Amino acid sequence: MAAKIDRLKAREQDPKVRAHNFQEVCYGYNAEEALQEASRCLHCKNPRCVQACPVGIDIPEFIAKVKDGDFAGAAGVIAKDSSLPAICGRVCPQESQCEGSCVLGIKGESVSIGKLERFVGDWSRDNLPVKAAAQAPSGPKVAIIGSGPSGLACANDLAKLGYDVTIFEALHRPGGVLEYGIPEFRLPKDTVVKHEIDNIVAQGVKIETDVIIGRTVTIDQLFDEEGFKAVFIGTGAGLPKFMNIPGENLNGVFSANEFLTRNNLMKAFRDDYLTPIKAGKKCIVVGGGNVAMDAARTAIRLGADTTIVYRRTEVELPARKEEVHHAKEEGITFAMLTNPVEILGDDKGWVRAIKCIKMELGEPDASGRRSPVAIPGSEFEIEADTVIMALGTSPNPLIARTTAGLDQNRRGCLVADESGATTRPGIFAGGDAVTGAATVILAMGAGRRAAAAIHSYLQEEA
Ligand SMILES: Cc1cc2nc3c(=O)[nH]c(=O)nc-3n(C[C@H](O)[C@H](O)[C@H](O)COP(=O)(O)OP(=O)(O)OC[C@H]3O[C@@H](n4cnc5c(N)ncnc54)[C@H](O)[C@@H]3O)c2cc1C
Repeated sequence: MAAKIDRLKAREQDPKVRAHNFQEVCYGYNAEEALQEASRCLHCKNPRCVQACPVGIDIPEFIAKVKDGDFAGAAGVIAKDSSLPAICGRVCPQESQCEGSCVLGIKGESVSIGKLERFVGDWSRDNLPVKAAAQAPSGPKVAIIGSGPSGLACANDLAKLGYDVTIFEALHRPGGVLEYGIPEFRLPKDTVVKHEIDNIVAQGVKIETDVIIGRTVTIDQLFDEEGFKAVFIGTGAGLPKFMNIPGENLNGVFSANEFLTRNNLMKAFRDDYLTPIKAGKKCIVVGGGNVAMDAARTAIRLGADTTIVYRRTEVELPARKEEVHHAKEEGITFAMLTNPVEILGDDKGWVRAIKCIKMELGEPDASGRRSPVAIPGSEFEIEADTVIMALGTSPNPLIARTTAGLDQNRRGCLVADESGATTRPGIFAGGDAVTGAATVILAMGAGRRAAAAIHSYLQEEA
């Protein structure tokens, strides 16, 4: 019986080797391995995996095509709902979505849906030509602000419906966090990210980089002077949070956002780029989420002895288990139940150490998580020359400040309904700008729902 075959683990780079390079950690499946893993799917009549996928990919159907060796057919099935399969196959938290709902996972191990999706995405890139749109756009002009997964998904759906879509992106390369946040060793840029964006451009989507909406041009100017009939805001949540403790202004303290952007977008890790970054000899990363893992795994690759400092225990670490496992394999130290209280500097204004206090877990808070409580008198110092703050992010307020009629909530997120409609007619929003920091696939789902809502809105307006 198919269910008796064990889940096939994808091959990975040796941790000792990969801790010193930026090449991809996971090699994924080859065709033979993909066929083997696909054969484990039970093709449930009521597929819970599809319900758990925020963009509703017909998972049993694409896996059936893989099982038959019809990889192009599998790509066609996925393409109905997702324009970024090689990306999502790599970075989606499948364990809490499709794979977390797989029936095989109840008594054993779920089908490796993510690795199969990745295989199909990679196979398509290597074997299928980029498919251009059948005809040039003829519909009304729609502006998409931000080229992250929400903006890309929204743009792709609208272009397929015939709209004349332009994405405006503040940075010099499109992709949002896919390009500037997630490191190369988890998501290669020049192959995987670029190819999936090229596919969207081939649908007729225009991308204008180095344009900051709210500064270079406002949303009102897009409507009044440039003839756009609807706008989607997918500007993400890129504003870093700090602890507001003494010493955060010292040289050698970075937000994870800056540290990762310098590496991923400015290629600081490559000798052929003139944009160096100092990870130092001893690096402390403060935080326990996926961003902290990415920052720590980048720092160790740059040669720093790296420690993650987190105020709860390993059980409460919000990062994906796979990321924590990879970080440990690569030699990163975890200092749990530890909270920084001050960053200490030398006489030249550079970080020399971080002062922490020991914590213990107290009563559960409103969210049910046990709150960390400081143990009086337990302060101690950890030597460090670089400190990276990975404490979460919030949306940048620029667009809301420069556009009348856009409401924000207490957390600085744009207010939008389920369809993406904001408090101003004709302006839609989705992704991290609305939810706060979340995931790639949730941002894509929001972008797709907004595309459908923009289509309805423009049909009513016509
Ligand atoms: C380091 C890191 C690692 C992550 N790892 C994962 C992971 O493994 N799996 C996962 O599912 N999720 C992960 N996430 C979260 C995920 O990447 C985000 O939830 C997702 O990218 C949000 O998509 P978005 O389209 O809303 O915004 P973003 O991806 O943030 O894109 C927004 C874009 O808008 C642009 N922009 C902002 N303001 C303006 C403006 N005024 N004018 C023009 N352009 C503007 C920005 O430059 C950016 O390119 C990670 C996040 C980070 C930071």
